[in-house]
Amino acid sequence: MKREIHWSEARDSSVPMELYGVPEFLKVLDCESCILSSKQHTLATRFERSGIGLHSGELATVRVLPVAVGQGRYFVRVDLPGSPIIPATVDCVGQTMLSTELVNGEAQVRTVEHLLAALGSMGVDNARIEIDGAEVPLLDGSALEWVEAIAQAGIVAQSADRQIHPLSEPIWLCQGDAFVAALPSSELRFSYGIDFELPAIGNQWFSWSPHQESFRVAVAPARTFGLLPQIEQLQQSGLIKGGNLDNALVCGEDGWVNPPLRFSNEPVRHKLLDLVGDLSLLGVFPQVHVLAYKASHRLHTQLAQRLAYTRLSV
Ligand SMILES: [Zn+2]
Repeated sequence: MKREIHWSEARDSSVPMELYGVPEFLKVLDCESCILSSKQHTLATRFERSGIGLHSGELATVRVLPVAVGQGRYFVRVDLPGSPIIPATVDCVGQTMLSTELVNGEAQVRTVEHLLAALGSMGVDNARIEIDGAEVPLLDGSALEWVEAIAQAGIVAQSADRQIHPLSEPIWLCQGDAFVAALPSSELRFSYGIDFELPAIGNQWFSWSPHQESFRVAVAPARTFGLLPQIEQLQQSGLIKGGNLDNALVCGEDGWVNPPLRFSNEPVRHKLLDLVGDLSLLGVFPQVHVLAYKASHRLHTQLAQRLAYTRLSV
Protein backbone atom coordinates (compact mmCIF):
# COMPACT_ATOMS: atom_id res chain seq x y z
CA MET A 1 0.00 0.00 0.00
CA LYS A 2 1.24 3.49 -0.84
CA ARG A 3 2.49 5.29 2.23
CA GLU A 4 1.15 8.83 2.67
CA ILE A 5 3.54 11.41 4.08
CA HIS A 6 2.83 15.11 4.25
CA TRP A 7 5.34 16.81 1.96
CA SER A 8 6.39 19.30 4.64
CA GLU A 9 7.45 16.43 6.88
CA ALA A 10 9.80 15.12 4.24
CA ARG A 11 13.15 14.43 5.84
CA ASP A 12 14.53 11.61 3.77
CA SER A 13 15.48 12.66 0.26
CA SER A 14 15.74 8.99 -0.76
CA VAL A 15 11.95 8.67 -0.53
CA PRO A 16 10.35 9.41 -3.92
CA MET A 17 8.77 12.86 -4.17
CA GLU A 18 5.39 11.37 -5.16
CA LEU A 19 4.96 9.99 -1.66
CA TYR A 20 4.99 13.45 -0.15
CA GLY A 21 2.01 14.77 -2.05
CA VAL A 22 4.11 17.69 -3.34
CA PRO A 23 1.99 20.70 -4.36
CA GLU A 24 1.48 20.85 -8.11
CA PHE A 25 3.56 23.98 -8.73
CA LEU A 26 6.62 22.42 -7.11
CA LYS A 27 6.52 19.67 -9.72
CA VAL A 28 5.75 21.90 -12.67
CA LEU A 29 8.21 24.74 -12.24
CA ASP A 30 11.88 23.95 -12.22
CA CYS A 31 13.59 26.78 -10.39
CA GLU A 32 15.92 24.48 -8.47
CA SER A 33 18.80 24.71 -10.90
CA CYS A 34 18.97 28.53 -11.03
CA ILE A 35 21.19 28.63 -7.90
CA LEU A 36 23.66 26.27 -9.60
CA SER A 37 23.84 28.24 -12.86
CA SER A 38 26.84 30.38 -13.85
CA LYS A 39 24.45 33.09 -15.11
CA GLN A 40 22.74 35.86 -13.18
CA HIS A 41 18.95 35.61 -12.81
CA THR A 42 15.98 37.81 -12.02
CA LEU A 43 12.24 37.24 -11.66
CA ALA A 44 10.10 36.66 -14.74
CA THR A 45 7.42 38.88 -13.25
CA ARG A 46 6.63 40.74 -10.03
CA PHE A 47 4.89 39.34 -6.97
CA GLU A 48 3.42 40.78 -3.80
CA ARG A 49 2.76 39.54 -0.26
CA SER A 50 1.44 41.27 2.87
CA GLY A 51 1.58 40.44 6.54
CA ILE A 52 2.66 41.56 9.99
CA GLY A 53 6.24 41.92 11.19
CA LEU A 54 7.47 39.70 14.03
CA HIS A 55 8.90 42.50 16.13
CA SER A 56 6.78 45.54 15.23
CA GLY A 57 3.48 43.68 14.81
CA GLU A 58 2.80 46.15 11.96
CA LEU A 59 1.26 45.29 8.61
CA ALA A 60 3.46 45.77 5.55
CA THR A 61 3.23 44.91 1.86
CA VAL A 62 6.28 43.69 -0.03
CA ARG A 63 6.39 43.85 -3.83
CA VAL A 64 9.35 42.12 -5.50
CA LEU A 65 10.13 43.14 -9.09
CA PRO A 66 12.56 42.04 -11.82
CA VAL A 67 15.52 44.34 -12.51
CA ALA A 68 18.42 44.53 -14.94
CA VAL A 69 21.60 42.52 -14.67
CA GLY A 70 24.15 43.67 -12.09
CA GLN A 71 21.61 45.58 -9.95
CA GLY A 72 21.70 43.11 -7.08
CA ARG A 73 18.95 42.75 -4.48
CA TYR A 74 17.82 45.97 -2.82
CA PHE A 75 14.93 47.26 -0.72
CA VAL A 76 13.01 50.46 -1.46
CA ARG A 77 11.07 52.09 1.39
CA VAL A 78 8.17 53.32 -0.73
CA ASP A 79 6.40 54.72 2.35
CA LEU A 80 9.20 57.25 3.05
CA PRO A 81 9.78 60.60 1.27
CA GLY A 82 12.00 60.10 -1.77
CA SER A 83 11.60 56.29 -1.58
CA PRO A 84 15.13 55.61 -0.26
CA ILE A 85 17.01 52.53 -1.42
CA ILE A 86 18.59 50.10 1.05
CA PRO A 87 20.96 47.65 -0.67
CA ALA A 88 20.78 44.08 0.69
CA THR A 89 24.54 43.96 1.17
CA VAL A 90 26.98 43.42 4.03
CA ASP A 91 27.80 47.16 4.11
CA CYS A 92 24.24 47.99 5.17
CA VAL A 93 23.89 45.66 8.17
CA GLY A 94 22.44 47.53 11.15
CA GLN A 95 21.47 45.94 14.42
CA THR A 96 21.27 42.14 14.57
CA MET A 97 19.37 41.53 17.77
CA LEU A 98 16.85 38.71 17.12
CA SER A 99 16.70 39.54 13.39
CA THR A 100 18.82 41.20 10.74
CA GLU A 101 18.26 44.87 9.98
CA LEU A 102 19.58 46.79 6.98
CA VAL A 103 20.23 50.52 7.17
CA ASN A 104 21.08 53.21 4.64
CA GLY A 105 21.16 56.72 6.07
CA GLU A 106 17.87 57.33 7.86
CA ALA A 107 16.10 54.42 6.16
CA GLN A 108 15.93 50.93 7.67
CA VAL A 109 14.25 47.63 7.06
CA ARG A 110 14.12 44.81 9.56
CA THR A 111 13.80 41.00 9.58
CA VAL A 112 15.06 40.68 6.02
CA GLU A 113 16.57 37.21 6.41
CA HIS A 114 13.75 34.87 5.37
CA LEU A 115 12.89 36.73 2.16
CA LEU A 116 16.57 37.12 1.28
CA ALA A 117 17.22 33.43 1.99
CA ALA A 118 14.44 32.54 -0.45
CA LEU A 119 15.70 34.89 -3.18
CA GLY A 120 19.37 33.94 -2.71
CA SER A 121 18.86 30.20 -2.50
CA MET A 122 16.60 30.17 -5.57
CA GLY A 123 19.21 32.08 -7.55
CA VAL A 124 17.43 35.44 -7.90
CA ASP A 125 20.50 37.69 -8.09
CA ASN A 126 18.75 40.88 -9.13
CA ALA A 127 15.52 42.09 -7.53
CA ARG A 128 13.91 45.34 -6.42
CA ILE A 129 12.06 44.77 -3.14
CA GLU A 130 9.55 47.54 -2.46
CA ILE A 131 8.17 47.68 1.08
CA ASP A 132 5.74 50.15 2.66
CA GLY A 133 6.95 49.65 6.24
CA ALA A 134 10.03 49.03 8.35
CA GLU A 135 9.74 45.26 8.76
CA VAL A 136 9.36 42.37 6.29
CA PRO A 137 6.21 40.31 7.05
CA LEU A 138 6.83 37.11 8.99
CA LEU A 139 4.08 35.19 7.13
CA ASP A 140 4.04 31.64 8.58
CA GLY A 141 7.47 32.06 10.21
CA SER A 142 9.29 30.17 7.46
CA ALA A 143 10.48 31.02 3.92
CA LEU A 144 7.86 28.80 2.33
CA GLU A 145 5.46 31.52 1.14
CA TRP A 146 8.36 33.51 -0.32
CA VAL A 147 9.66 30.45 -2.13
CA GLU A 148 6.18 29.66 -3.48
CA ALA A 149 5.74 33.25 -4.65
CA ILE A 150 9.13 33.21 -6.42
CA ALA A 151 8.35 29.86 -8.06
CA GLN A 152 4.97 31.13 -9.24
CA ALA A 153 6.47 34.36 -10.59
CA GLY A 154 9.20 32.38 -12.37
CA ILE A 155 12.91 33.04 -12.76
CA VAL A 156 14.76 34.05 -15.93
CA ALA A 157 18.45 33.89 -16.81
CA GLN A 158 20.25 37.13 -17.66
CA SER A 159 23.17 37.82 -19.99
CA ALA A 160 25.98 38.31 -17.45
CA ASP A 161 27.84 35.70 -15.42
CA ARG A 162 27.85 35.47 -11.63
CA GLN A 163 31.17 36.28 -10.02
CA ILE A 164 31.63 33.23 -7.78
CA HIS A 165 34.70 33.42 -5.58
CA PRO A 166 36.51 30.44 -4.09
CA LEU A 167 38.21 30.78 -0.71
CA SER A 168 41.88 29.94 -0.21
CA GLU A 169 42.04 29.83 3.61
CA PRO A 170 39.46 29.03 6.30
CA ILE A 171 37.88 31.97 8.14
CA TRP A 172 36.25 31.65 11.53
CA LEU A 173 34.74 33.77 14.28
CA CYS A 174 33.89 32.75 17.85
CA GLN A 175 31.76 34.17 20.62
CA GLY A 176 31.92 32.05 23.76
CA ASP A 177 31.24 28.49 22.61
CA ALA A 178 29.40 29.71 19.50
CA PHE A 179 31.23 29.92 16.19
CA VAL A 180 30.85 30.43 12.47
CA ALA A 181 33.37 29.32 9.88
CA ALA A 182 33.83 29.31 6.12
CA LEU A 183 35.98 26.54 4.71
CA PRO A 184 37.36 26.18 1.18
CA SER A 185 35.12 23.68 -0.60
CA SER A 186 34.53 22.14 -4.00
CA GLU A 187 30.86 23.21 -3.76
CA LEU A 188 28.49 25.40 -1.74
CA ARG A 189 27.29 23.81 1.51
CA PHE A 190 25.82 25.01 4.83
CA SER A 191 26.02 23.02 8.09
CA TYR A 192 24.51 24.04 11.42
CA GLY A 193 24.50 22.78 15.00
CA ILE A 194 22.41 23.89 17.98
CA ASP A 195 22.34 22.72 21.60
CA PHE A 196 19.46 23.61 23.93
CA GLU A 197 18.78 22.42 27.46
CA LEU A 198 15.10 21.95 26.66
CA PRO A 199 14.80 18.23 25.88
CA ALA A 200 12.34 18.82 23.01
CA ILE A 201 15.14 20.58 21.10
CA GLY A 202 18.40 19.27 22.58
CA ASN A 203 21.38 18.80 20.27
CA GLN A 204 20.63 18.97 16.53
CA TRP A 205 22.84 19.10 13.43
CA PHE A 206 21.81 19.62 9.84
CA SER A 207 23.72 20.03 6.60
CA TRP A 208 22.35 21.28 3.29
CA SER A 209 23.82 21.75 -0.17
CA PRO A 210 21.83 22.99 -3.19
CA HIS A 211 23.75 20.38 -5.20
CA GLN A 212 21.94 17.60 -3.29
CA GLU A 213 18.54 18.83 -2.21
CA SER A 214 16.28 21.77 -3.01
CA PHE A 215 15.97 24.65 -0.55
CA ARG A 216 12.21 24.56 -1.09
CA VAL A 217 11.87 21.06 0.29
CA ALA A 218 14.73 20.84 2.83
CA VAL A 219 14.95 24.30 4.38
CA ALA A 220 12.22 26.77 3.36
CA PRO A 221 9.35 25.15 5.37
CA ALA A 222 11.26 25.34 8.72
CA ARG A 223 9.63 27.94 10.98
CA THR A 224 10.92 30.46 13.50
CA PHE A 225 10.97 29.09 17.03
CA GLY A 226 11.14 30.52 20.52
CA LEU A 227 11.48 29.38 24.11
CA LEU A 228 8.49 29.98 26.38
CA PRO A 229 10.26 31.85 29.25
CA GLN A 230 12.20 34.07 26.82
CA ILE A 231 9.07 34.90 24.83
CA GLU A 232 7.32 36.24 27.93
CA GLN A 233 10.38 38.36 28.73
CA LEU A 234 10.67 39.73 25.19
CA GLN A 235 6.97 40.58 25.03
CA GLN A 236 7.23 42.46 28.34
CA SER A 237 10.11 44.44 26.77
CA GLY A 238 7.85 45.43 23.84
CA LEU A 239 9.50 43.05 21.37
CA ILE A 240 8.05 40.28 19.17
CA LYS A 241 4.66 42.04 19.07
CA GLY A 242 3.74 40.14 15.91
CA GLY A 243 4.70 36.69 17.22
CA ASN A 244 1.92 34.17 17.79
CA LEU A 245 1.31 30.44 17.73
CA ASP A 246 0.51 30.56 14.00
CA ASN A 247 3.85 32.02 12.93
CA ALA A 248 6.35 30.66 15.44
CA LEU A 249 6.98 27.33 17.12
CA VAL A 250 7.06 27.68 20.88
CA CYS A 251 8.95 25.28 23.14
CA GLY A 252 8.50 24.88 26.89
CA GLU A 253 9.87 22.55 29.58
CA ASP A 254 7.17 20.02 28.77
CA GLY A 255 7.66 20.07 25.02
CA TRP A 256 6.28 21.95 22.05
CA VAL A 257 3.29 24.17 22.81
CA ASN A 258 1.99 24.11 19.21
CA PRO A 259 2.90 20.87 17.45
CA PRO A 260 3.14 19.22 14.99
CA LEU A 261 6.60 20.07 13.69
CA ARG A 262 7.24 20.04 9.94
CA PHE A 263 10.56 18.23 10.50
CA SER A 264 11.76 16.47 13.64
CA ASN A 265 14.76 18.85 13.53
CA GLU A 266 12.82 21.93 12.41
CA PRO A 267 14.69 24.30 14.80
CA VAL A 268 18.16 23.62 13.35
CA ARG A 269 16.78 23.77 9.82
CA HIS A 270 15.38 27.21 10.63
CA LYS A 271 18.75 28.36 11.99
CA LEU A 272 20.29 27.22 8.70
CA LEU A 273 17.59 29.20 6.84
CA ASP A 274 18.61 32.33 8.79
CA LEU A 275 22.28 31.64 8.00
CA VAL A 276 21.52 31.36 4.26
CA GLY A 277 19.62 34.67 4.42
CA ASP A 278 22.43 36.45 6.24
CA LEU A 279 25.13 35.07 3.90
CA SER A 280 23.04 36.17 0.89
CA LEU A 281 24.13 39.71 1.79
CA LEU A 282 27.31 38.83 -0.12
CA GLY A 283 25.25 39.06 -3.33
CA VAL A 284 26.50 35.75 -4.68
CA PHE A 285 27.30 32.86 -2.36
CA PRO A 286 31.03 32.13 -2.42
CA GLN A 287 32.21 28.58 -3.13
CA VAL A 288 32.57 27.57 0.53
CA HIS A 289 31.30 25.26 3.23
CA VAL A 290 29.73 27.50 5.88
CA LEU A 291 29.65 25.90 9.30
CA ALA A 292 27.86 27.41 12.31
CA TYR A 293 27.31 26.27 15.89
CA LYS A 294 24.96 28.03 18.34
CA ALA A 295 25.44 31.15 16.27
CA SER A 296 23.38 34.33 15.95
CA HIS A 297 22.53 36.91 13.29
CA ARG A 298 25.47 38.89 14.65
CA LEU A 299 27.97 36.11 13.97
CA HIS A 300 26.35 35.24 10.62
CA THR A 301 26.60 38.81 9.34
CA GLN A 302 30.13 39.25 10.73
CA LEU A 303 31.19 36.18 8.77
CA ALA A 304 29.56 37.63 5.64
CA GLN A 305 31.49 40.86 6.20
CA ARG A 306 34.77 38.97 6.63
CA LEU A 307 34.11 37.00 3.44
CA ALA A 308 33.37 40.24 1.56
CA TYR A 309 36.61 41.75 2.83
CA THR A 310 38.57 38.62 1.84
CA ARG A 311 37.03 38.79 -1.62
CA LEU A 312 38.07 42.44 -2.02
CA SER A 313 41.63 41.79 -0.87
CA VAL A 314 42.25 38.90 -3.30
ZN1 LIG B 1 14.52 33.23 11.21
